[in-house]
Amino acid sequence: NQSLAQLDPEVSAAVDAELARQRDTLEMIASENFAPQAVLEAQGTVLTNKYAEGYPGRRYYGGCEHVDVIEQLAIDRAKSLFGAEYANVQPHSGAQANTAVYFALLKPGDTILGLDLAHGGHLTHGMRINYSGKILNAVAYHVRDSDGTVDYDEVEALAKEHQPKMLVAGWSAYPRQLDFARFRAIADQVGAILMVDMAHFAGLVAAGLHPNPVEYADIVTTTTHKTLGGPRGGLILAKSEYGKKLNSAVFPGMQGGPLEHVIAAKAVALKVAAGEEFADRQRRTIAGAKILAERLTRPDATEVGVNVLTGGTEVHLVLVDLVNSALNGQEAEDRLHEIGITVNRNAVPNDPRPPMVTSGLRIGTPALATRGFDEADFTEVADIIAEVLKPTYDVEALRARVSALATAHPLYPGLK
Ligand code: PLP
Repeated sequence: NQSLAQLDPEVSAAVDAELARQRDTLEMIASENFAPQAVLEAQGTVLTNKYAEGYPGRRYYGGCEHVDVIEQLAIDRAKSLFGAEYANVQPHSGAQANTAVYFALLKPGDTILGLDLAHGGHLTHGMRINYSGKILNAVAYHVRDSDGTVDYDEVEALAKEHQPKMLVAGWSAYPRQLDFARFRAIADQVGAILMVDMAHFAGLVAAGLHPNPVEYADIVTTTTHKTLGGPRGGLILAKSEYGKKLNSAVFPGMQGGPLEHVIAAKAVALKVAAGEEFADRQRRTIAGAKILAERLTRPDATEVGVNVLTGGTEVHLVLVDLVNSALNGQEAEDRLHEIGITVNRNAVPNDPRPPMVTSGLRIGTPALATRGFDEADFTEVADIIAEVLKPTYDVEALRARVSALATAHPLYPGLK
């Protein structure tokens, strides 16, 4: 019964160092967030010891009476939060949720139509060396050169040409709301199943600040750890007619025992996401992203020719476009890291620079909004970022401004 620090000082020290890193820096990776302490607590419980293959009330192991209560709570909360007829809370990750959907409803060689990875799509939407691209016949649609938004006319033309079994909407790097009604209409024209992967914007949907894809799609998948702010994991929502096939594709099709400690943490996160404090946080998340887009593109902001894709944002992230700038994505990411701001470089559509360098940055506001940042704080963050992108900048002065923001918003004050 030794503590982690006693039993394994090496792992313990690295965990402590990671907590310090999260506290002392400004986390702006758009897919990250800070799970509430109650979520961390649920995930660190004895539930990790329990095997529970099957579903609540129909398990292949004894002793599941308590994990049944927990998993049913998670299912009921997911359904009620998003207005879904069916929920499966067992996928270990977003990628596994998507793969389980394909496994449930498609056969090898079937055609899917999804957003190109280089235009903001996800690996699991048909990337060449992902399982989805290897097993399925993946066709990609794109964003328009003219304004960076999804080219719905191309989606429709490709759908008619390729007759996909499934149309996939959703993104990892795209700053606008999607037109779900248009996707539904296109899917209906060719008799395709419509799947929406809302991994990035599920928290905005939960807060009522983004159209709800559940009202349009046959299947909706998500991660639980991005804007939704829960533990790392996946979730599938669907019309009830798909439930039986989806259940058996997740287990026994793709996975063995569910991670009931993670499912408990998902249940807690879904409870949090139904509350008013969560909605306020999502409002600050979007407001922060809009402030970044506006301030970074002011004519005199950076002196190096920074644009943002689509000219702004409606969600929790901004895609900085450095195509016309001497500064590349790698240099910009490194400079921000140097002053304590964590972001990721990101290829922009038709990026002239190589994938390890890129001409873009993806900057997200969910984690800082969770930390309590308001519009004044995001204004200061935007101005710090603009400063560091200038040809010359004062590292020490910018580090001090980052530190002041971090200190003003303590992270996990209850954790030692
Ligand atoms: N779907 C989308 C749209 C994503 O952005 C991501 C992760 O970045 C995933 C799925 C995969 O989630 P995970 O990393 O949990 O497998």
